[in-house]
Amino acid sequence: MYTRVKTTQEIEAMRQAGKQLATVLDYLKKNIQVGMSTKELAELAKKRLKELGGKPSFLGYYGFPDVICISVNEEVVHGIPGDRIIYDGDIVSMDFGVTIDNMITDSAISVVAGTTKDKKAADLLTATEEALMAGIKKARDGVRVGEIANAIEKVLNRQHLGIVKELVGHGVGHQLHEEPNIPNYGSPNQGPILRSGMTIAIEPMATLGGAGVITMKDGWTIATKDQSLSAHFEHTILIKDNGAEILTKI
Ligand code: MG
Ligand code: MG
Repeated sequence: MYTRVKTTQEIEAMRQAGKQLATVLDYLKKNIQVGMSTKELAELAKKRLKELGGKPSFLGYYGFPDVICISVNEEVVHGIPGDRIIYDGDIVSMDFGVTIDNMITDSAISVVAGTTKDKKAADLLTATEEALMAGIKKARDGVRVGEIANAIEKVLNRQHLGIVKELVGHGVGHQLHEEPNIPNYGSPNQGPILRSGMTIAIEPMATLGGAGVITMKDGWTIATKDQSLSAHFEHTILIKDNGAEILTKI
């Protein structure tokens, strides 16, 4: 049954799935190595999730060929793991989904590989994650989607970052993408009202250049039009009476 407000059982399944998801992303963050291909990194995700017992949500989604999306530097989202080698200083965005009892969770992190400390890249990651947390902070019963969107936009604008507007957050649970859309920009008094028991994925995508993106020849990878670096952070959260619970955490 499709329910915008999830049942206690459904939420518990998402809590378990989210915990596994966060465990895998944390494992990747600790084990990513310069010189590794994105496919090798994806294999680590597959292996770790298998140990935990969850099901990868993305494999086969509209024909997506792997368990995880890995997007490097100018690639924003939906990168297909392959031969691309991870170099020192690369921004590696990892977007993963875990399903338990047919309930889906969705989360992403970006990291800088290796030891090169590029201040601009580090600041981009910090601001994008900060934007995510600012959005989550606004989430509670009765909030309009626009209030979350506006909080995200403010943080990214303050840092003069490009905001990818063609891609948005979303409801999540029974399907990977449910209503409503959660944009990363907008006015606080716009958009649908969220209620306790709804589960949504908030996912700011920001760039060091413009907002424009293009789809690459593989039909999946979305990259910045101006080849600028980009970052992506995402959590699945549960809307509660007085706030939100992050479900994709250890
Ligand atoms: Mg995602
Ligand atoms: Mg998502």
